[in-house]
Amino acid sequence: MKKTGRVNSAVRRWMMTVLFLTMIVGLVSACGNEGNNGKNGDSGNGDKGDGSKLTITATTGMIADTVANIGGVHVEVEGLMGPGIDPHLYKASQGDVKKLDEADLIFYNGLHLEGKMGEIFERLEGKKPVVAVASKIQEDNLMNDPQGQGEAIHDPHIWFDVKLWMSAAEVIRDTLVEADPDHAEDYKKQAEQYLAEMEKLDAYAKEQIATIPEKSRVLVTAHDAFGYFGNAYGMTVRGLQGMNTMSEFGSKDVAELRDFLVENKIKAVFIESSVSTDSIESVIEGASKLGHKVVVGGELFSDAMGEAGTTEGTYLGMVKHNIDTIVNALK
Ligand SMILES: [Zn+2]
Repeated sequence: MKKTGRVNSAVRRWMMTVLFLTMIVGLVSACGNEGNNGKNGDSGNGDKGDGSKLTITATTGMIADTVANIGGVHVEVEGLMGPGIDPHLYKASQGDVKKLDEADLIFYNGLHLEGKMGEIFERLEGKKPVVAVASKIQEDNLMNDPQGQGEAIHDPHIWFDVKLWMSAAEVIRDTLVEADPDHAEDYKKQAEQYLAEMEKLDAYAKEQIATIPEKSRVLVTAHDAFGYFGNAYGMTVRGLQGMNTMSEFGSKDVAELRDFLVENKIKAVFIESSVSTDSIESVIEGASKLGHKVVVGGELFSDAMGEAGTTEGTYLGMVKHNIDTIVNALK
């Protein structure tokens, strides 16, 4: 027993020595490998992993946010038009042109929303994908702009019918899949999740607007951005300024909208974050002179989202804010 024990301990000591040497050899070779890895890393910086994000420039915040949700970690997206910015009047700055030039991909709304950027898009079209997110919406589902001239015959404010914006999201998904097939599965998965949230928001809008008494379902705003919203969720929509903030409004428009408020006993009108409040205030004043009190029901986000980092600074949050503001004022 003792003998065996001594042999065993000799073997154990020998094994410990071997193990110790193995560890030293292991450590030395690990250090060597680490050095090599460092060198490989330096020369391989352009490899997939760190340098492979798609750089994307979008026009409106709604598009940029939708791209960010579907693209996730594989994209670096920037929206040119921040809070309070009116896309109808927006002119690209020098900095914007640089961002558009450097981007791998460009997304814009289309339907002439970005009225002053057409030439830039045309110039870049041959060089990279320049994609209008409205491009797959069927003609039958588009509303007309009664004041539209020339090519601009359709209402561009498609993001307020959540179902139509789902089509925009699908265009974004398909473009990303084509541009970056290595991450196709991620784009499809993220799009599926985002589309499910949009589906829920669409149902929420229908259910909430239905709580407003039928004759009060009238949405009066400064410019006609809510045609699709009214159509999808069952509200009559009246704007003072037409669909395009470039169009002029005169005293006749003010008088007509004033009379409409008085005749229909409408209690609240809404201001918009990206449109001057002067026009709608003159309507409120006019109604007051006729003995009908109208209040501002709240501020709606029409053509631009809220501040980054807030709920209203996202597409889903901005639409929900509008629904809740409208329902609270008119219920
Ligand atoms: Zn607009």
